[in-house]
Amino acid sequence: MSDFHQNNGALRPESRIVHPPLAEAVGSRPLGVPLHQGHLFAFETGDALVQAHDGPGGAFFYNRFGNPTVRSLEDAVADLEGGVGALAAASGMGAISTALLALLRTGDHVIAQRSLYGGTFALLADLAERRGIEVTHVGGDDPAEVEAALRPNTRLLHLETISNPTTRVTDLPGLIAVAKRAGVVSVVDNTFATPLLCRPIEHGADIVIHSATKYLGGHSDVLAGIAVFADPELHREVWRYSLELGATVDPFAAWLTLRGLQTLALRVRRHCDTALDLAGRLAAHPAVTAVHYPGLPGHPDHELARRLLPEGHGGVLAFDLAGGREAARAFTESVRLASLAPSLGGVHSLVLHPASTSHRQLSDEELAAVGIGVGMVRMSVGIEHPEDIWADVDQALAKA
Ligand code: PLP
Repeated sequence: MSDFHQNNGALRPESRIVHPPLAEAVGSRPLGVPLHQGHLFAFETGDALVQAHDGPGGAFFYNRFGNPTVRSLEDAVADLEGGVGALAAASGMGAISTALLALLRTGDHVIAQRSLYGGTFALLADLAERRGIEVTHVGGDDPAEVEAALRPNTRLLHLETISNPTTRVTDLPGLIAVAKRAGVVSVVDNTFATPLLCRPIEHGADIVIHSATKYLGGHSDVLAGIAVFADPELHREVWRYSLELGATVDPFAAWLTLRGLQTLALRVRRHCDTALDLAGRLAAHPAVTAVHYPGLPGHPDHELARRLLPEGHGGVLAFDLAGGREAARAFTESVRLASLAPSLGGVHSLVLHPASTSHRQLSDEELAAVGIGVGMVRMSVGIEHPEDIWADVDQALAKA
């Protein structure tokens, strides 16, 4: 604070109320990360202001370029993911679109997984139609398929650690290795796994994305996203474009995400334990024909999941009901403790019927092609008591 602002007793009330003294902790420090909600910072010299424009780690001067609370979130998640830096955004889609638009130019080719979050799938389709960016979709388990899809103009490989709602686990090391050899940037959406279960940068990823709206925030009260970078040049390139796109996270949203992040380890442990327990009970229930959870030995990616996600397999599972579409709808409308709602990764248990909601645009044949049965229910397992969750699921199964 300048001397002028510290000794403002000579000013008139109208001026003093615009320039209140800033209280600073002396001899102590705040335990929580302070919320810097103001979007503007003042400088002592013009040179310092110019230098603040230099890069993502510069002095703070305007929130679109950086903010102390937001930087704390970026540093915390970069640290968890093993990256060199991060860029927070207003939502998961804000992070994905900023990264993709920053890196892709007309004429580039993208290889992306077939089973992607709907918003990402739509963004890629839009980039293909409007910007002349070619997209090839591949499965998540065959490096040879990625190898065969490579072209001289391939710029980016886009993957998701665990796919939604089928819970297939992607062979990150195998697929990323192909991209690396070809000089292709690999982007991994790690939302479902969290950095506590999987750190894609350890498997060679260049950028890791999270919808922080989900597990990182964890309480269904904040919309935010983040991209973590393995390389400082990529970080700077995407940061520069983010200034133009402006999908900047609000400091309060960053602060809420940071507060949620403090309990991530406890929550993730509980999500994983309860989901595994629930998956086993569902598999033994006569109304259920299949359970999709990588922690179950019968899951097609169980072996890969044991290697890639040794600490647990996440809090999302899906199951198919013998009664098909009608039974799935009846189930989702009969739960009492759990709620019928989209999204995932929060403390509350949520259920969803993908065929009539998130994937309703697909025909029954198209659903089958992406592994989604018409009687499939997706569940984001919350942190309520496991016996209460099971009692609720059990009574809803009786009505399905
Ligand atoms: N990535 C994944 C895997 C998601 O499930 C979602 C949202 O459901 C997103 C990205 C988009 O995140 P947001 O809703 O925060 O934009």
